[in-house]
Amino acid sequence: MFRIRLHGRGGQGVKTAGRILGTAFFLEGFHVQDAPRYGAERRGAPIFSFVRADRREIHERGVIVLPDLVAVTDQTLLDMPGAGVWEGVGAETPVLVATAHSRERLLARFGETRNIIVCDLPANGSANAPPPLLGMAALTLAGAAARLTGVITAGALRDAIAHELVHLGPEALARSLEQALAAFAGLESRRGELREGALPDARHWTPPRWIRLEHEPSALAAPAIRNTANSSQVTSDQWRTERPVLDAGLCKGCWWVCATFCPDNAVLVNGEGRPVIDYSHCKGCLICVEQCPSGAMTAAPEPEAQTAGEGQP
Ligand code: SF4
Ligand code: SF4
Repeated sequence: MFRIRLHGRGGQGVKTAGRILGTAFFLEGFHVQDAPRYGAERRGAPIFSFVRADRREIHERGVIVLPDLVAVTDQTLLDMPGAGVWEGVGAETPVLVATAHSRERLLARFGETRNIIVCDLPANGSANAPPPLLGMAALTLAGAAARLTGVITAGALRDAIAHELVHLGPEALARSLEQALAAFAGLESRRGELREGALPDARHWTPPRWIRLEHEPSALAAPAIRNTANSSQVTSDQWRTERPVLDAGLCKGCWWVCATFCPDNAVLVNGEGRPVIDYSHCKGCLICVEQCPSGAMTAAPEPEAQTAGEGQP
């Protein structure tokens, strides 16, 4: 059975990349499971999706804890323990990363023995042509992962993309196909490198790592739930790949626009009726940038903006 886990940030196309791979496997005659794992309002947050494919019926359920392949759309997740990219990854497990960084740089940081495969990210569209709606990185990974399997043909990949992305319209679909097929061709020399993992054997079953707790009175067992107003302690500043920056000179003071549209209540309003961004809880969805009628909110890339202190008082 092939077990593939795709990691990325909400909005980068990780779910769709999983669907493309799943459909391509299906077209090649495989039984397939593909499912994303995320909650509501996750744009920018670490999420993952996973694909299982086998010639036989699949009885395994749940998230993949021992992947045969991991694919990552956003290299910043490699450093983030909460993203779980390295969960179950052994020395030989291929880790596909769509990044502009070199393989040597990633190996130096994450371990020389890691089986990291770098997929070059393309230029994100020319000045005259808008990029496809689906993230380039996700398309790159879908194409590269398909080639690594050795069982997905270019024709099945093409048909799967056409099926999953038909709603984008002919132009974006054509560019998406071009990107995925280029990544597919780019790993021709590694065709079939991905090995199918063995089926689990009940004789080698080991208990999961959780600790079994005895029943307690609910007053003892659920203190966090009974506490009020503790959501402010959950920060989301690590979700951002870009941050909104306010130009006070352009701001018209129509705070009900940006403050109302912010889904995380991260646009506060000061005593003078001016917006103030709470960067500890801003997740970088950039809805405020889209909604601001005067162009006072602009997007700046992390972590450069953080280093430069952009947006800070
Ligand atoms: S919507 Fe734009 S102009 Fe209006 S208060 Fe917010 S940042 Fe300022
Ligand atoms: S401040 Fe802007 S970018 Fe940050 S969470 Fe709110 S709407 Fe999204």
